[in-house]
Amino acid sequence: MQLHLDALAVVRASAPDQPAILNRPHAAARAARFFVEKFPGKTLYAVKANPSPDLIRVLWDAGVTHYDVASVGEARLVRGLLPEATLCFMHPVKAPSAILEAYRDHGVRTFSLDSLEELEKIRLATTEANDGVEPTDLTLCVRLRVSSEYSELSLASKFGCELSDAAELLQATRQLADCLGICFHVGSQAMSPHAYVQALEKARAAIVDASVTVDIIDVGGGFPSIYPGMEPPPLEDYFALIDRTYESLPVSYSAELWCEPGRALSAEYNSMIVRVEKRRGDELYINDGAYGALFDAAHVGWRFPVRLLREDANGDNADFSFYGPTCDDMDHMEGPFELPADIRSGDYIEIGMLGAYGAAMKTRFNGFGATEVCEVADEPMSSQYRGDRVDPRVSDNVVSLR
Ligand SMILES: *Cc1c(COP(=O)(O)O)cnc(C)c1O
Repeated sequence: MQLHLDALAVVRASAPDQPAILNRPHAAARAARFFVEKFPGKTLYAVKANPSPDLIRVLWDAGVTHYDVASVGEARLVRGLLPEATLCFMHPVKAPSAILEAYRDHGVRTFSLDSLEELEKIRLATTEANDGVEPTDLTLCVRLRVSSEYSELSLASKFGCELSDAAELLQATRQLADCLGICFHVGSQAMSPHAYVQALEKARAAIVDASVTVDIIDVGGGFPSIYPGMEPPPLEDYFALIDRTYESLPVSYSAELWCEPGRALSAEYNSMIVRVEKRRGDELYINDGAYGALFDAAHVGWRFPVRLLREDANGDNADFSFYGPTCDDMDHMEGPFELPADIRSGDYIEIGMLGAYGAAMKTRFNGFGATEVCEVADEPMSSQYRGDRVDPRVSDNVVSLR
């Protein structure tokens, strides 16, 4: 893969006609080392945030040994890349054939569930995969439904068992599980560590109600990155509060603490170069959009950091919205995206922090979606891991190098 200094160097070298995805393996490796060294437990990478094989190898090389897969496709992908990785199937609603293949062919022993129906499905499929003998090597994590009130993207409606049903499900799961876990997801981009404290208190209530021995507490994903207007406290604050609350839970002596970051491990890995094809007032028509890497920008109004890639880029800024390349009115990103007021057609823009739920979302709709990929050596537009956020709680920043 071509290595360049930064996005401007890519534009100078090739003036790309298609959107170009930029990889920053050094940033992903740094994020992985941070979690491996500082999270007070085990870190599972949630593959759905960005299933790029290159990224998965970078994370493995940086010490991430466990992977949260949510489909049999993700299980095949990670197993193909990393024969020694531990795979955990953390989607609480699975096809029986997916459970069977995961157990038999990919060595998966950890599954999540949120209903008695799913427990029975897991029992039957793993027994079949184990030549008709009920397995004794399962780790089963009961997913609790918890609030998403501190998070920018809710994950509170679809999955998770209510506290009132948790005792029965935990007791029934304990019968089949060699290791019993409780997991949850506080929602993505959790802007306060109290999200985890509140969820862990719910886990405590469930354990007390059920009077079962619990071996794993899995606090899920939700660890935030930095975007314009979304400046979370440092991750160390999250880890400290999680650790303290976890230590006070009534779990077994040998219990383990797990987490499943997707966004926090992948957001800084990618940015994208797009070209302005037309300007209409404060609307810029660019060559990637809602059906490309900007799904979240279009559908949930997510704001990504931007910068103009022009040598003489200075002067006053103005707020712009974007239209993507397809013929669909929905291909619109409200922003606002702040860029130099004299931006014009033919200019290139770098859109940052697209490693999580960005680069992974590209489709071929309407004949668009072709991309070039290259590697760059500069810093991502913002970082949780650079150590230069002196007191991030009072800065309004997205740390920018330019
Ligand atoms: C999506 C997901 C994650 C990752 O969430 P982030 O907010 O990206 O950290 C982790 N666990 C499960 C079960 C998920 O569905």
